[in-house]
Amino acid sequence: MIPRLMPKVTSKTNEPPRAVYPGSFDPVTNGHLDIIRRAAAHYPRLIVAVVANPNKKPLLTLQQRVDLLRDVCSGLRGIEVDCFDGLLVNYVRARGASLIIKGLRIVSDFEYEFSMALLNRHLPGGVDTMFLPASLEYAHISSSSVREVFSLGGDISEFVPPAVLRAMKRLQSSRAGSSKKSVKKSVGGKTV
Ligand code: ADP
Repeated sequence: MIPRLMPKVTSKTNEPPRAVYPGSFDPVTNGHLDIIRRAAAHYPRLIVAVVANPNKKPLLTLQQRVDLLRDVCSGLRGIEVDCFDGLLVNYVRARGASLIIKGLRIVSDFEYEFSMALLNRHLPGGVDTMFLPASLEYAHISSSSVREVFSLGGDISEFVPPAVLRAMKRLQSSRAGSSKKSVKKSVGGKTV
């Protein structure tokens, strides 16, 4: 009898394997996009999952972060953009995925991501994590540095896709408009 080397094919295993790439994506950067492209080359179905993060105060709303990711991933095959709250392992299992993808930039990323990976494997329904090292040209980019440089008037065009730059500029001018209005309101107590 020939030993069965392949797992039994069921309707579930017939589907292409799925992996989940979770993050805040506040906003999505060229570094994220690089990880998405490289992970998608190995995984036919990649779910990019935006963490709702009610505890952090994000710059962009959940909807804005999802919309921007959908925009910048629209030319890539096999990518789905979604969002979730609660435990990552529960989300991964609920979506029928079997792997978490993470990007690693610097040594300090490793410490945190390693402990998260251990946790996610040991929680009930545990899921394994695969790390992709950041590409050298993007290793210095983080969403928080992009937000900071932008808020101080610096040029972020090298760090984010053009759609993100446009969205950040729109957001900035709409905020500048509303803060001007509130200053005017407080002068003389009249709405101008
Ligand atoms: P950030 O740490 O920039 O605020 P996220 O929480 O959205 O970003 O990160 C989601 C995932 O993407 C994490 O695994 C993080 O390590 C990875 N990542 C973020 N920026 C980069 C980058 N420039 N290169 C590679 N991976 C990255």
